[in-house]
Amino acid sequence: LVGDTSKLDIDLIAALDIVEDVKRVQEPYKNANRKFHPEDTVIQVGNTQIGGGNLTIMAGPCSVESEEQVVAIAKAVKASGATMLRGGAFKPRTSPYAFQGLHEEGIRLLLEARAATGLPIVTEIMDAKHLPLFEDIDIIQVGARNMQNFELLKELGKLRKPVLIKRGMANTLQELLMSAEYVMAGGNDQVILCERGIRTFETATRNTMDLSVIPVLHQLTHLPVVVDPSHATGRWELVAPMALGATACGADGLIIEVHNDPEHALCDGPQSLRPGKFADMMEKVRAIRPYSDHSFTTGRVVV
Ligand code: PEP
Ligand code: MN
Repeated sequence: LVGDTSKLDIDLIAALDIVEDVKRVQEPYKNANRKFHPEDTVIQVGNTQIGGGNLTIMAGPCSVESEEQVVAIAKAVKASGATMLRGGAFKPRTSPYAFQGLHEEGIRLLLEARAATGLPIVTEIMDAKHLPLFEDIDIIQVGARNMQNFELLKELGKLRKPVLIKRGMANTLQELLMSAEYVMAGGNDQVILCERGIRTFETATRNTMDLSVIPVLHQLTHLPVVVDPSHATGRWELVAPMALGATACGADGLIIEVHNDPEHALCDGPQSLRPGKFADMMEKVRAIRPYSDHSFTTGRVVV
């Protein structure tokens, strides 16, 4: 039972013939709660399965800049073992004067990159009014800044399409799970959680990356947990070490920014790996999680 169950009489329900056991789930998130759904949720996207011990590698530029750029990067990351392409067409920038993304044209270029490589696409939505543009997109990303845009989450709950929700930079795991709950309450149970670092007093890195959230979330929820070490650290040389850490901690996926010319990237160049460095990272990731048939499998890190 979901909704306000506080007024229900547990004894009365337990007395029913068809009831074996009654447990009150204290947490405010019900659909996302592992107590309600002990098995891992596995989300099928193209040939890739996200969750259930697979390791899905999503890689690509922060922003789609041109056809040559996104197709070349898509081909490069695919060659190294990525099974999904990331890339922003709508960019949430701190400054209104910074590059805002190619919008509709960016979505079109992502679909071209998918046609050229077969890689499914994950890309960010910032406003529900843009939803018609996302019809052919494989996974819709809700960025950190929109994690608590509840009206947007409700609209995504009406879809039957995977939604990747990034943790807000000042949000707790319970708040992240409540955001997932908004989507699931609408009937869309294909939700992926993403840890991308939070803001702390530390200034040496762009954000602070907490690997313990991976086993903690696996305890609390059945939803897949993906880690983004690019935004979590803000520095390309820290991306591979943190990706390896997340892989060892049982993450269900990694989302990595890769650019063929980071010095001239229109967004997030300093945290972007060149394709060669991404290939090196993938080799080390493979050493931690066995590789088979385009997906990495492993036993879950059980806590
Ligand atoms: C991104 O993925 O490019 C992005 C803007 O991420 P975040 O919402 O985590 O800052
Ligand atoms: Mn970025």
